[in-house]
Amino acid sequence: MHSPIATRCTDLTKIYGAGDGRVTALAGVTAAFAAGAFTAIMGPSGSGKSTLMHCLAGLDAATSGQVFLGETELGTLADAPLSRLRRDRLGFVFQSFNLIPTLTAEQNITLPARLGGRRIDRPWLMEIARTLGIEDRLGHRPSELSGGQQQRVAVARALIGRPEVIFADEPTGALDRASSTQLLGYLGECVRGLDQTVVMVTHDPNVAAYADRVLMLADGLVVDDLLAPTDDAILHALSGIGA
Ligand code: ADP
Repeated sequence: MHSPIATRCTDLTKIYGAGDGRVTALAGVTAAFAAGAFTAIMGPSGSGKSTLMHCLAGLDAATSGQVFLGETELGTLADAPLSRLRRDRLGFVFQSFNLIPTLTAEQNITLPARLGGRRIDRPWLMEIARTLGIEDRLGHRPSELSGGQQQRVAVARALIGRPEVIFADEPTGALDRASSTQLLGYLGECVRGLDQTVVMVTHDPNVAAYADRVLMLADGLVVDDLLAPTDDAILHALSGIGA
């Protein structure tokens, strides 16, 4: 049985600048991301990873092509509905944790939902906290948490609104190896245990190996698509594109 598609794009192009300064960041990308899967987008520096993620997440408009979240085509939305779609239907985890230092972990997790006027589903909050191993850290402020714990609070904040997709941009970039390994294990648990869809950008083969699938970009195009990737398979694919 095929999983439903959470998000997809067709023939996506993104061109920056004009004339001599013209850069083709995406040269026609068609890709679909299954619901409940953990996908890593990889490729050499400058291959278009961040641009693709930003277009899929409605943070940047493509030059041509289409992006769908479920049945909604992002290109048809004006700024205000697009912002609402990002707030209500997507979650984000960035390299920097972006936690508010004066708020506790729990207050940080629930802040976006409270600002959006939504009720906090406490059993869901506790399930997320348990899955991420931070249930005994909810009353602490960010300065009282390790980097890895702070990033898990940021993941909980992304999960609490039950987003259709979480976009993660180098989520382990600011973490040491042990914290990275732990976070990736927890992210995988969110996908398998909580049925969350995650699309993660990374340049690190060890990080990508935690995903169910690796979409490999080079020069703004998809050049490989690996299922259940091992470190070796990823390294082999990377060496094939001269990375
Ligand atoms: P990656 O994330 O794989 O490193 P990016 O998506 O950041 O790649 O960039 C793809 C290409 O687009 C690169 O050549 C980069 O220099 C260019 N690029 C990205 N953002 C901009 C921008 N705002 N203005 C001009 N060129 C850009």
